Amino acid sequence: MRPFTDSEPVFELRTDPTSGRKVLIAEGRAARPNDFVSATSILAPSHQPADCPFCRGNESQTPHELACARDSHGNWQVRVVPNKYPVVGPDAPEVGVCENPLAIAETPLGVHEVIIESPLHVRDWLDLSVEQVAEVLGMFVGRLEFALEQPRIESALIFKNVGQGAGASLEHVHSQLVGLPFVPTLLEAELAIASRHRAMQGSCLFCDLLREELRHRQRLVCENEDFVAFCAFAGRQPYETWVLPRRHSPLFTGVSRQEIGSLASVLQQVLHRLSEIVSPLAYNLVLHTAPPRDERSEAFHWHWELIPRTASLAGLEWGTGVFINSVSPERAANILQGIKT
Ligand SMILES: [Zn+2]
Ligand SMILES: [Zn+2]
Ligand SMILES: [Zn+2]
Repeated sequence: MRPFTDSEPVFELRTDPTSGRKVLIAEGRAARPNDFVSATSILAPSHQPADCPFCRGNESQTPHELACARDSHGNWQVRVVPNKYPVVGPDAPEVGVCENPLAIAETPLGVHEVIIESPLHVRDWLDLSVEQVAEVLGMFVGRLEFALEQPRIESALIFKNVGQGAGASLEHVHSQLVGLPFVPTLLEAELAIASRHRAMQGSCLFCDLLREELRHRQRLVCENEDFVAFCAFAGRQPYETWVLPRRHSPLFTGVSRQEIGSLASVLQQVLHRLSEIVSPLAYNLVLHTAPPRDERSEAFHWHWELIPRTASLAGLEWGTGVFINSVSPERAANILQGIKT
């Protein structure tokens, strides 16, 4: 922890001394534009799509481009830029050692990128073609490879926040990639359980889970030759849906070209079904992929978790980490299966 001065925004990775919980303190983010806040908000005034920084023609409003995919006319279709309001950064200012042993803070080293998924001002993958979503997924592979090659990055995740209830600040279709100098708690828990399962059973926990879901079929949402989507047995929110590749593979970067097309199609199908039930649909979509330098990574099996945000987190969740789900995953799957696509 550096000595506090009120003129400088605090940018640190802190560890809570009582729980071990990691928290990124990123005061620079308070200045973010927001499409959803009202004019009376204490944050920036409402952001008009007319000057949306992600739209074609407004490229100068974003930081320098890191990568892009172009069509045959040379126009960009998917564009990657550093997050203007990062939670971690490659050049984060060094956080010195503090004399207080219960105030452990580190330099928040990492990468935080934004993947702008269309030059047009559309909101969701449902507004894109399957080919466009596949192009976006292909870009994820390239950016993950780059992030995970960085020497001090231990894990990386890709996520989408869609809709106000899911924490989105800009509505223009986009995702984020965050590379972290540690393995976050949820991924660590999944890795530990998958690694124990492999040691005891000699098989992959996720492959076994997939086999059982396909045998019982009561939580299946949809499937194709490469992927299966099902409502999670202990989903945290109504309609929480996971998408798993049939082929065992620890790292998303090992996905094949054909699998990318199949994945785009399954994800769009799931979103289509959800949007028929939850309106407007706000959701978080998160990629879990193995930390490549971790010796347990072979036991892991990459997957996407899609969490529609129909309920807000309240006292029980904040106080215990235990979630309340008001729609059983079996009922949710039954309803989702019944929707025509
Ligand atoms: Zn836009
Ligand atoms: Zn597996
Ligand atoms: Zn997971």
